[in-house]
Amino acid sequence: MTQTAQIIDGKTVSARLLETIATQTAAMSTPPGLAVILVGDDPASHVYVANKIKACAKAGIRSIEHRLPTTATEGEIANMITTLNTDTSVDGILLQLPLPKGLDSDKLVQMIAPAKDVDGLTIPNIGKLVAGIDGLVPCTPQGSLILIKEVMPDLTGKHAVVIGRSLLFGKPMAQLLLAENATVTTAHSKTSDLAGLCKTADILVAAVGRPKMVKGDWIKKGAIVIDVGINRLEDGKLCGDVDFEEAKNIAGAITPVPGGVGPMTIACLMVNTLKANRSK
Ligand code: NAP
Repeated sequence: MTQTAQIIDGKTVSARLLETIATQTAAMSTPPGLAVILVGDDPASHVYVANKIKACAKAGIRSIEHRLPTTATEGEIANMITTLNTDTSVDGILLQLPLPKGLDSDKLVQMIAPAKDVDGLTIPNIGKLVAGIDGLVPCTPQGSLILIKEVMPDLTGKHAVVIGRSLLFGKPMAQLLLAENATVTTAHSKTSDLAGLCKTADILVAAVGRPKMVKGDWIKKGAIVIDVGINRLEDGKLCGDVDFEEAKNIAGAITPVPGGVGPMTIACLMVNTLKANRSK
């Protein structure tokens, strides 16, 4: 079967977004500042932070990295957050997750001043999203929506199915789609006939963390498929939650893994940092 789906290239879209931000920050007398707190030595977290810092450089955002050892206590991290909350040169604070075992990441994330919460994970920002009030929106769903709108600018009346209901992704994604006038169904591990439900979706968003779970025959012909999952296979290669090889023959448009949603997450972190700077 020949490939029919348009590949939604997150690398190109995110590069464009970073360029737009760079143009705006270049015109500012003081660039926005992003403080990144990295605790411990999780290799994946180090890679993510390095990528975020690279993106800051491209976007004209000043990055300030704070590294703490694995032995750092909750109190030490809390003190650092409190200091950054009142530091006027810092517009955004990012606490890189996951934290080493034994640290209460939920409690620490909620200590971040909502105006500097560039991950959009504090309760006030989540509340604003649900209430339809402008605030800081979590980066991965924000980036996913941009990719959807690249290929379908008007989502009115479309049926969107989001697989996954995490606070980090599934719930905010559903809210963003709802705000775009889509009819939204959120699926999760207790959903019955998941395949049948997915088949009714004009927009299918998978954020589960199970390699290639969404099969080609779960997808409605011509649907937009957004694959949020990042899974590492035994051979070291990355793959998404969607079986790309099957899906590309049925979907109308699809994001690849890697190179789809991932780069958008980082670009939207820059969007949020600029927004936090402009809102103060
Ligand atoms: P999570 O907190 O583990 O949530 C996973 C969700 O999937 C849960 O709601 C769970 O349902 C649901 N689920 C699990 N098994 C299922 C099944 N068999 N059928 C249907 N639903 C099922 O994960 P997350 O933080 O949302 O992340 C999900 C994926 O996205 C991961 O692969 C993660 O690495 C990736 N991710 C990527 C980016 C990026 O920048 N590209 C950013 C964030 C996350 P229950 O609620 O019922 O348990």
